[in-house]
Amino acid sequence: MKTATLERPGQFTFSDTAQPGDPGPGQVLARVLIIGICGTDLHAFEGTQPFFSYPRVLGHELAVEVIATGEGVTSFVPGDQCAVNPYVTCGVCAACVRGRSNCCAKMCVIGVHADGGMCDRILLPAKQIYKCAKLTPVQIPLVETLGVGIHAVGRAGVQAGDRAIVCGAGPIGLSVIEFLRMAGADIGVVEKMPERLEFASRHHGLTRAYPSHDEARQEEPSMLVFDCTGDKGSMEKAIHLLQQGGKLVFVGIVNDSISLFDPDLHRREATILASRNSTPAEHHRVLEYMESGAIDIAAWPTECASPADMGARFPLWLRREAGIVKAVVEWA
Ligand SMILES: [Zn+2]
Ligand SMILES: [Zn+2]
Repeated sequence: MKTATLERPGQFTFSDTAQPGDPGPGQVLARVLIIGICGTDLHAFEGTQPFFSYPRVLGHELAVEVIATGEGVTSFVPGDQCAVNPYVTCGVCAACVRGRSNCCAKMCVIGVHADGGMCDRILLPAKQIYKCAKLTPVQIPLVETLGVGIHAVGRAGVQAGDRAIVCGAGPIGLSVIEFLRMAGADIGVVEKMPERLEFASRHHGLTRAYPSHDEARQEEPSMLVFDCTGDKGSMEKAIHLLQQGGKLVFVGIVNDSISLFDPDLHRREATILASRNSTPAEHHRVLEYMESGAIDIAAWPTECASPADMGARFPLWLRREAGIVKAVVEWA
């Protein structure tokens, strides 16, 4: 079968690899349909992804179709189109037993820490997949992306009417905006790429839209600030957008230290929260919202590439050119 391996930063190789065997107990054998590409993949390609080693088969945002089921798998039948929860967790660590499996101490993300879906067929634990009868294959990988957003908004404990601002209007920033909108927050956005700023503000009717932190600082500060940039400079400046007593949520990740001037924190009595991944319960809520139409990502500027074009497109997606918000690879 065809498999793409990221051998080292900047280099994919395609090879003919052995098909996986029959599914074992609790497993399904699935055909990969669509692979969403996110910052994690782009940073792995760039060589700046923390907790990453090469070579690796990427692909953690997946739409798959079940081909065969192993012993004891009763919830799926061949032909089911499914989303994949790529977060394989231990179930016994301090985080897992407190319901916070999103930050499991032994977190293994399929397509990041273990080989993922850039191949024709994959064996998956049945407990890691969700049936998506009402979604198109292109929408399905967004369950993971939106999961990151719903988790971040949950971390902040947002209330209707809360003044919030989101730094970065890529897929994660847009996911956060979707759930802030559902919660009834008053939403602002900071994004330096004009196409992304224009899309976020037009799509959500946001009047508080700024091309830079400096411009956003001119307005009244927000009770909730979400940094979805993964950019050190933005993460360090975000505190200046925060109201007294507010919460700053770092949704993005940067492989670097972040430095904050302590009086800026102290004066505000700021709460700083990290937000990592999402939980199965959150994935189920995302699926409900997508299937009911409460969240519609059809308008997001998406580019579909073929596996053959993928290697050439990665550097362009990395530079976030032409306002593409979400890139997906149509594998089958
Ligand atoms: Zn992702
Ligand atoms: Zn755990």
